[in-house]
Amino acid sequence: MSWNTVWNRRTFLSALAALSGNAIAPRAEASVAEGSKMAGIDGSPIVPITSGLGSTGDIYAELGVTPLVNINGTVTVIGGSVMKPEVMELIRRGNEHFVLIDELEKAAGKFIAKLCKSPEGCTGLVTGGAAAALVVGYSAFMTEDLEDRLVSVPDTTNFPRNEVIIQKSHRYAFDHQIRQTGAKLVEVVTREEMIAAINPKTVAIHFTNILSDHGKVSGPETVAIARAHGIYTFNDASADVPPVRRLWDYPAVGFDLTTFSGGKDICGPQASGMLIGKEELIRWCLLNMSPQEDRIGRCCKVGKETIFGFLKALEIFVNQDENATLRMYDERAETISRAVAPFGVTALPRQYNPDALGNVTPTYSWHVDPKKLNMTGHDVLQALADTRPVGIGTFGADASGMRGRKASDPKKESAVQKAKSDVPTRPRREQVDPQMFGFAVWQLKPGEDKLIADRLVEVFSKARKA
Ligand SMILES: *Cc1c(COP(=O)(O)O)cnc(C)c1O
Repeated sequence: MSWNTVWNRRTFLSALAALSGNAIAPRAEASVAEGSKMAGIDGSPIVPITSGLGSTGDIYAELGVTPLVNINGTVTVIGGSVMKPEVMELIRRGNEHFVLIDELEKAAGKFIAKLCKSPEGCTGLVTGGAAAALVVGYSAFMTEDLEDRLVSVPDTTNFPRNEVIIQKSHRYAFDHQIRQTGAKLVEVVTREEMIAAINPKTVAIHFTNILSDHGKVSGPETVAIARAHGIYTFNDASADVPPVRRLWDYPAVGFDLTTFSGGKDICGPQASGMLIGKEELIRWCLLNMSPQEDRIGRCCKVGKETIFGFLKALEIFVNQDENATLRMYDERAETISRAVAPFGVTALPRQYNPDALGNVTPTYSWHVDPKKLNMTGHDVLQALADTRPVGIGTFGADASGMRGRKASDPKKESAVQKAKSDVPTRPRREQVDPQMFGFAVWQLKPGEDKLIADRLVEVFSKARKA
């Protein structure tokens, strides 16, 4: 049976549903009661759609885009993570009423603080992602609750304090969100330089948690230095849970603001995140953001649905059994290992560092015996990515061709055409051994481990050496 000829999106989804015992396949005939009993991640319909977009049961095919199985991780370029049925349900219920968004945000903040065992006097804020949290947080440091400053940002020329110290090794793509508030970054390397850089214009020190092993100044040292000089600290720990305890450990270090992304392993709405900090500071953050108008953060909107969805996701995340989750990942990898063993493909020990600074999840890898199969590890990942109608994995951010060009380069015909001719970037592991391939299984949906196993069996059957 050939994957391409026999499988289509409908049979694929039906197979997934059968494998997982969930109603993942779109079934217009499913009743609401039945739907809630058998809720699948992809959502049982709460109302049948009989015309227009969605009426075929395959919204991806209707728009002509390729859906993907996520073997990469919680990366935004392919959609981050997927929400659990309970989260979808709260998003739906969040749409039931109008509400004063500021009132809802304040209540949500208390809910977050309780769930995350936040320090005395602290509360939370649901933001439109961790990047949005950086924008409203840095703006709040500078504006406080002063109206003329709130409307002036990003013009901070007349502000008493608009300099932010950052370790050179902590510079990263998201410091753009600090700079967009009009704050000026001041780079330092050593602890001595950090202290020497503090002047009356300094408002805060930024800490990029995932890069903390690259810097010379630790989180607690950063907090101590800032406190001694009356300036703020911000910890960007966006992708750094699990382990869940970091939700309370990092704010307890004493950072004035800490952010976590909601659209990564917390599995909340894609455009959600949160801040934890002192009540007054969080109020200034909310003053800088939607629903308020004439603010830098008016484009950082979170809707009522997002707020409810995020809180539910956070609750589920905090209450999960981390050991059980790990066992589930191992079982998924085991499903794949069992299926590929007859082809001389062997499972290598899983790689897992529970103390890693971010993206703490096991990755699994396998070794292809070149005497038995005519394939390299790269070939395997390419075959998975080329799988249709649903691709398995992708080759990095370049896959969509969305890169800027140098002024001297010719204009691209179209991003999509470019992507097709792109040479895939080689994943790191193959550089170690070209016969190895590996990936993460944490963002798989129920049944997708079996799907990958079946696809690998098909690929390996064709690549068998005589
Ligand atoms: C993902 C990420 C962000 C952005 O988070 P969003 O919720 O996607 O806005 C910021 N900082 C770091 C370190 C991240 O990994």
